[in-house]
Amino acid sequence: MSRYKDEQCRICRREGQKLFLKGQRCYTDKCSVSRRNYAPGEHGQKKAKLSEYGTQLREKQKTKSFYGVGEKQFRRYFEMASNKKGITGENLLQILESRLDNVVYRLGYGSSRAQARQLVNHGHFDVNGKKVDIASYLVKPGDVIKVREIKKDSSIMKENVEALASRPVPEWLEKDIENLSGKVLRLASRQDVDLPVEEHLIVELYSK
Ligand code: SF4
Repeated sequence: MSRYKDEQCRICRREGQKLFLKGQRCYTDKCSVSRRNYAPGEHGQKKAKLSEYGTQLREKQKTKSFYGVGEKQFRRYFEMASNKKGITGENLLQILESRLDNVVYRLGYGSSRAQARQLVNHGHFDVNGKKVDIASYLVKPGDVIKVREIKKDSSIMKENVEALASRPVPEWLEKDIENLSGKVLRLASRQDVDLPVEEHLIVELYSK
């Protein structure tokens, strides 16, 4: 049997959920979770009962993978969330949703968060008229994100723009297809986050 090599799909299978890490493929019947909904590896089909710590850890890992954030950065976001008024877990999700790469993905200018991050890093977007090439940039209400001139060799951007009309946009954002831009109407609330996560478990993990 050939070895299963697809790292991103392995992450989804480990979490037992679609995390939409690969763009278009995630919406087709080629999705590995649809085809093999059990953990990867030799013992993947055995259902192991997780400890309390294991369950908390899985929620954190799943959230990190979903947003494509490393451990250090994620920890920093947790500190920021704890220092904000309100419920820490919800604050954490709101901060993650506010990342520029996530906003670009949510607006439909990237087919996955990973691709959106790459496009931001390559300088394809302005925020409020200025080029921003930092994927972790946190947007604010009122910010306008705009595609800079599409470079002739950017077939990815051209494909994404062609598919824009079919991509739904969350209520906290507004998309302007004609001007290839989008506006942040407000920060995302818990109801806007479509990741099935119990964020209080992450808070418990970091509060130990
Ligand atoms: Fe792979 Fe996407 Fe399916 Fe996850 S949701 S298993 S990344 S195809």
